[in-house]
Amino acid sequence: MAEVVLAGVGKVYPDGTRAVTDLNLDIADGEFLVLVGPSGCGKTTALRMVAGLEGISEGEIRIGDRVVNRVPSRDRDVAMVFQSYALYPHLSVRDNIGFGLSLRKVPKDEIRRKVEDAAARLGLTDHLDRKPRNLSGGQRQRVAMGRAIVREPQAFLMDEPLSNLDAKLRVQMRAEIARIQRDLGVTTIYVTHDQTEAMTLGDRVAVMKKGVLQQVAPPQELYDRPANLFVAGFIGSPAMNMLTGRLTGEGDALRVEFRGGQSLRVAPESLTARPALRSYLDRPVVVGIRPEDMEDAELAPGPEDARLTCVADLVEAMGSDVLVHFSVDADLVVTDDTRELARDAGADAPQQAAQGGAPLVARFSPRTRV
Ligand code: ATP
Repeated sequence: MAEVVLAGVGKVYPDGTRAVTDLNLDIADGEFLVLVGPSGCGKTTALRMVAGLEGISEGEIRIGDRVVNRVPSRDRDVAMVFQSYALYPHLSVRDNIGFGLSLRKVPKDEIRRKVEDAAARLGLTDHLDRKPRNLSGGQRQRVAMGRAIVREPQAFLMDEPLSNLDAKLRVQMRAEIARIQRDLGVTTIYVTHDQTEAMTLGDRVAVMKKGVLQQVAPPQELYDRPANLFVAGFIGSPAMNMLTGRLTGEGDALRVEFRGGQSLRVAPESLTARPALRSYLDRPVVVGIRPEDMEDAELAPGPEDARLTCVADLVEAMGSDVLVHFSVDADLVVTDDTRELARDAGADAPQQAAQGGAPLVARFSPRTRV
């Protein structure tokens, strides 16, 4: 096990495409770090540079106390798990899992013991003599994990390992990966475009956009204190509502005014936490409100200046949650989990809205961010 450090790492492909810019990450020994971002943001490239499958254009990568910039992939002592599993079709599960050890001329008894330990851990004991074609997608995924485990590497590098599985299996394997990583305590870098996977698996999550790291933080901090609008919009489902307004007022009595004349008071806590907010006076600002932070003002009365009048124009019942789409002066707001609000809005909310009928009033809880 080892710490993995990326210092000022950059990548320009031979055709001139810049995939990664000045990436700095300190991944602690035993940490589970998730690299997340939309397609093309450079996360796979970053992982492949750590694995040694891609050269590094700038900066330095360290695994343990060794700078590995020029160390070939096979000597880096890391184990990759790919989306495609990359199993050998003609080999049994046993031989697939033990393949890397056989190459290294590890004694046969030791290979057998390690393969059987890994198989037991992964629930593959009864399938050791099968060929990959006779396994389900989830079982193949486990074989790929098994191959990584028996090598006892300094780090696991995983690239979208669950993306070929159906939704139910994905949730199950996600939990298993978390459990195995915790049991083994191996430093892990895990690439995904799925923010739910990122939030549930990562000790910390690194969000990338266009080759540039946007924020790296524990999941809850990312959710509560996104560093910028990109992170705020990317993390959370349904996505955070963004309302653009103008910061007005003076002293501690600041408000954000929206088109159409409505406004929200800036909570004193927000000003204390973000003193720089004052410098935005008379300038446009974006208010970010998590869907679950909206409450029905009728049921949870609060100060008048922490309210917005919204018109419900779409209700989506999703079983456990109800999503209600509102418009606030032409901006769209979504809330969930407020069953009473949904009941009030009811199925005829869109018609009511169309007729200009009784708008719903939503009050915002103190989690509201300006
Ligand atoms: P995805 O989730 O779609 O795999 P990603 O975030 O992993 O995306 P990368 O695969 O790292 O992104 O790609 C980052 C950028 O580098 C993209 O613009 C991509 O087109 C480009 N790129 C990737 N591989 C090469 C290559 N071999 N040559 C040139 N450009 C490449």
